[in-house]
Amino acid sequence: MKRIPEPFRIKMVEPIRLTTLAEREKALEQAGYNPFALKSEDVYIDLLTDSGTGAMSDSQWAGLMLGDESYAGSRNYFHLKDAVQDIFGYSDFVPTHQGRGAEQILFPCLVEKMQRERGGAQPVFISNYHFDTTAAHVEFTGAMAINVVDERAFNTEQPYDWKGNIDLQKLNDAVSHYGASNIAGIIMTVTCNSTGGQPVSMANLKAVYQLAQYHQIPVVMDSARFCENAWFIKQREAGYQHTPIKQIVSEMYQYADMLTLSAKKDPMVNIGGLCAIRNDRPLFQVVQTRCVPLEGFVTYGGMAGRDMEALARGLYEALDEDFLTYRIKQVEYLACRLKKGGVPVQWPAGGHAVFVDAKKMLPHIPPEQFPAQALCNALYLEAGIRAVEIGSLLLGRDPVTGGQKSSPMEFMRLTIPRRVYTNDHMDYIADALFEVARKAETLSGLTFEYEPPVLRHFMAVMKPLSI
Ligand SMILES: *Cc1c(COP(=O)(O)O)cnc(C)c1O
Repeated sequence: MKRIPEPFRIKMVEPIRLTTLAEREKALEQAGYNPFALKSEDVYIDLLTDSGTGAMSDSQWAGLMLGDESYAGSRNYFHLKDAVQDIFGYSDFVPTHQGRGAEQILFPCLVEKMQRERGGAQPVFISNYHFDTTAAHVEFTGAMAINVVDERAFNTEQPYDWKGNIDLQKLNDAVSHYGASNIAGIIMTVTCNSTGGQPVSMANLKAVYQLAQYHQIPVVMDSARFCENAWFIKQREAGYQHTPIKQIVSEMYQYADMLTLSAKKDPMVNIGGLCAIRNDRPLFQVVQTRCVPLEGFVTYGGMAGRDMEALARGLYEALDEDFLTYRIKQVEYLACRLKKGGVPVQWPAGGHAVFVDAKKMLPHIPPEQFPAQALCNALYLEAGIRAVEIGSLLLGRDPVTGGQKSSPMEFMRLTIPRRVYTNDHMDYIADALFEVARKAETLSGLTFEYEPPVLRHFMAVMKPLSI
């Protein structure tokens, strides 16, 4: 498959170092067999996340020097406001320290709005798939988080263009089951991170919005990778082949009432977020009121002036079609090489990561021994590459029964930071994983030495079981 050269040249470099196997064995043991606890110095290629790990452009770095650090009414806030209005068409917004900052101020306001306007008493949020912090913030409000993604998303071998789509029948059933007055919001995650960075079609966005409008349920666009989603629409959906990405984005946001956004993903800043609302002043006013004590005053919301400037610029860079093509093709190149070499991956590849199916690769390790975590550890030992488990370990226990929640997937996610690693790095990753695949039968599962009560994947201490 065709490789696209990086559409940038490198003007500053950050050295990375490959450690020896003995050093990695020691580092992994000290980290309690949990890659989250590794020092980044001990990692050669870091694929833990694409969040905040992107490389800013010369223009973004230059923007940092133009930071206006006034407490209120910073010039950079107005630049950001113009960008938000121009790109999404939403005039009311607050900056937040990152995506979860937007979630924590918005969701309680939506629950309150539901109670006030529609008399609901048992709040529920429905999503194609709630991201982990999104589910946590939904649950903090006392609401339930229900996922209704298309079932095809869970079959990694069956190709389907829209593995991020909401299953409309399931959505309808959920609305009838819980009652429209109890649905505090529908959260559309673009792209759908949890199923592999998979896109949502424009037709699906439109159909969901129509249903939501009929029941007067607000739609929130969880927007971390909105440009990657727009690129997939342009590639795959009839009628968009000649539409500029910015225009596709603008149409996408007509099918939502508000957005939360982690600026650490597509807009390529190291920290930052947004909450924007289209046409609901009373809601915006309560959001602003919550913003002040939790995030900061409404014209900075947890961001420095300089960071707002970098974000205002990054929002436009993220829409650049040549960049998006290179970006997504780089991910696809890695996925293709792996698939051709017999490594089972979510297919087609998503926008920001390759999801390796550990259930298929290590069928001898049961879910309660965390096959994807075992795979991450093996890849680290092999080549100094840090990946992340998206499976049973991440999902955790049922708060009511205390039993392990059953995960539909056991993935090892190879997350590709933006503008950081070259195509040569992709080849190194693929070759390393082929080596691991050859030894698959010799790998063993893991058990806990220490299991934290919540969000256990971050702090868990584990040990390998002997086979
Ligand atoms: C990262 C992410 C968030 C949370 O954003 P943070 O900036 O990490 O707080 C929410 N939703 C999705 C889909 C994400 O990928």
